[in-house]
Amino acid sequence: MALIKCPECGKQISDKAASCPNCGCPIANAPTSIKIRCLSNDRSVRYHIFMNGSVELGRGLIGSTVTLNIKTPMYITVQQQYAILRSGDTGSFRAEPGKCYEAKFVKPGLAFWKTVVSEVSFIG
Ligand SMILES: [Zn+2]
Repeated sequence: MALIKCPECGKQISDKAASCPNCGCPIANAPTSIKIRCLSNDRSVRYHIFMNGSVELGRGLIGSTVTLNIKTPMYITVQQQYAILRSGDTGSFRAEPGKCYEAKFVKPGLAFWKTVVSEVSFIG
């Protein structure tokens, strides 16, 4: 992370900030994406990624990394999809642009065994 000068008010701010915390000026080269990787010991599972609980942003296979474009921090929900039903463990976290997240599902299984996602952690 580096400090840059806000083009509007001249204050020193992070180049990772989406906007200047002092004057609100949007920062042009602010990151606009996040990466999410989901891990599970059930390799057949797919996962779906939602914004604010309903709008699907993307999907992927367990173990793969999905890059999503987000401009501002937002709540992201990751849901596992079992073979037939789109119903499985879910987990939510607040995602910040420019960061990577890893969701670990340790209890895959039948769709009616719903557990909260085991762990969502920041990985970079
Ligand atoms: Zn500013």
